[in-house]
Amino acid sequence: MTVRVGFGFDTHRLVEGRAFWLGGVQVPHVTGALGHSDADVLLHAICDALLGAAGLGDIGHHFPDTDARWKDADSKVLLKQVMALLAGRGWRVGNVDSTLVLERPKIKPHIEAMRAVIAPLLGIDLGAVSIKATTNEQLGFVGREEGVCAYAVALIEKAAS
Ligand code: MG
Repeated sequence: MTVRVGFGFDTHRLVEGRAFWLGGVQVPHVTGALGHSDADVLLHAICDALLGAAGLGDIGHHFPDTDARWKDADSKVLLKQVMALLAGRGWRVGNVDSTLVLERPKIKPHIEAMRAVIAPLLGIDLGAVSIKATTNEQLGFVGREEGVCAYAVALIEKAAS
């Protein structure tokens, strides 16, 4: 078995008048993340972790924000496409761990719903999808609620050929 690990990071600006998509779930809040797609910072970080593990570049390479196809795109579709790229090369996911960084709203009530969306997209058990959340202790742009960040690591594996 060949195993590889990948890392992903993403950040998006928070603005009024946008739906707040996080981990494939719409979270009720006074602001939402701004971006070309639905700006789901957690799914983007997971996409980058998966692409990085497979040595396939990054999300901006595969889904450029200059491409009208990805305007307001559902990031679950992007994740599905990333999974298809990996599957085509014989990779499957072992597990994913992630951390969201934002001041508000509280993420804990939404974590189980996010895991239930993400696990089937990755083809893994709920127990192999970890989502954690922390505030930034009111420091910096996250602390001022101007933005949201996400970090993710992914382990992928394939049978040795
Ligand atoms: Mg992004």
